[in-house]
Amino acid sequence: MPSTSAALLFAFGLGQWLEDDPSLLPPSALAPVLASEDIEAGTFPPEVERARRAVAGLDKRPETPPTFDDFASAIEDLPETVTPRRRVWVRHRLRPRERLSQIAARYATTVDDIVNDNRLDPNLDPDRLASRKYRTLRVLARRIPPPRREVITKAAAGETWGDIALRMRVEELDLRSWNWQRRKLDAGRELTVWVDPMAKGFLHPGQGPEPPTTFEVKAGARSRGRPQQGRLDGGLMLPKSELYSRRPGNGGLYGSSHTIEQIQRAFAAFRHDSGYDGEVMIGAISRKHGGPYSPHISHQSGRDIDIRLPLLPGLPTVDHPNPDEVDWYATWALIRSFIDTGEVSVIFLDVSLHRRLYEAARILGETPESLEELITWPSWKGKNPTVKHSAGHDTHIHVRIACGPDEPRCLESNGRKPRRARMARARVAQP
Ligand SMILES: [Zn+2]
Repeated sequence: MPSTSAALLFAFGLGQWLEDDPSLLPPSALAPVLASEDIEAGTFPPEVERARRAVAGLDKRPETPPTFDDFASAIEDLPETVTPRRRVWVRHRLRPRERLSQIAARYATTVDDIVNDNRLDPNLDPDRLASRKYRTLRVLARRIPPPRREVITKAAAGETWGDIALRMRVEELDLRSWNWQRRKLDAGRELTVWVDPMAKGFLHPGQGPEPPTTFEVKAGARSRGRPQQGRLDGGLMLPKSELYSRRPGNGGLYGSSHTIEQIQRAFAAFRHDSGYDGEVMIGAISRKHGGPYSPHISHQSGRDIDIRLPLLPGLPTVDHPNPDEVDWYATWALIRSFIDTGEVSVIFLDVSLHRRLYEAARILGETPESLEELITWPSWKGKNPTVKHSAGHDTHIHVRIACGPDEPRCLESNGRKPRRARMARARVAQP
């Protein structure tokens, strides 16, 4: 981005350094534009100037952090996130326990860029950055949210660490660590919390495009046999759509009519209900006639769909996103939309990510009870939830659609007739 560097250099009167690659610039050219000492500089677009002042003001740590009961009130008076037209250098002051991947996601850049621009040791553990050595980082930002804010919150009677973490939208481990000297949680106990405005998310609930009332999907494509040993009769190609993108160069996007219809329904509801407008890519369903589809074990009968985890807006699409780059609110909204079709038999996601999904779901209004049958978190005990662990499903979810009413030869993965068929039979058998 030559224009960005040029603008930056112009602003600092360093016109002789017209390098495109910021990592090649001398440290003086990387002088942060958002540091409070630069506040007089003022040759930036107005929106950047606003963000710069807001962030510079917030950077100062108040002597007594304010007290708040919940996340919404803790961020209420903070400025909005600014998206400048050009990338801007920001000096980021590390907050306790902040991860490099979180900082990259915050400014819509990459961990690699931050490592390069700060000449960090590429072998260093990005989760242990908050040492003295790296107290501030230079970040070429695409978006400028307000920094994390230190606040106090009081524990209510009977509240657990998890409850408090949830209402302040922070991770429980972080909360415990910030308050390591507090062994017990008595009512009224004051706790330090580094609230992150990013936890507000980027969804616009109910503001997405209105879903259609009918879905036209060509009938006749039928699933036969089991997902891991089956076929697809008359396979239907996943149609092009504004609702999702299709993995390019992939011949494996054929499904049963029933499956293709549920994809249309779920995605239309998801886009409308969440207002998420980022890319969501469907990677694999089945081959045209089904059957073995390497490297998958299932995906044989036109009912299995691999969907990439939706990323936070502004981030480049990558094959292996860090969990901090994933938009977990959008992920839950998508899963919810699939479940609400009533036609999902199982969803696979690596168990290492279930906590993230669970917390996002709770913040979006689900209760422990409503999630009881949906996800293996916080406990595995006695559950047969819809969202199950499957090793390696950590960059995408795998949704399996139930056998459709017009698919008499479709079987569950255990080889049994689908519940729908058994129920229909039972109904017929009764007088
Ligand atoms: Zn899969």
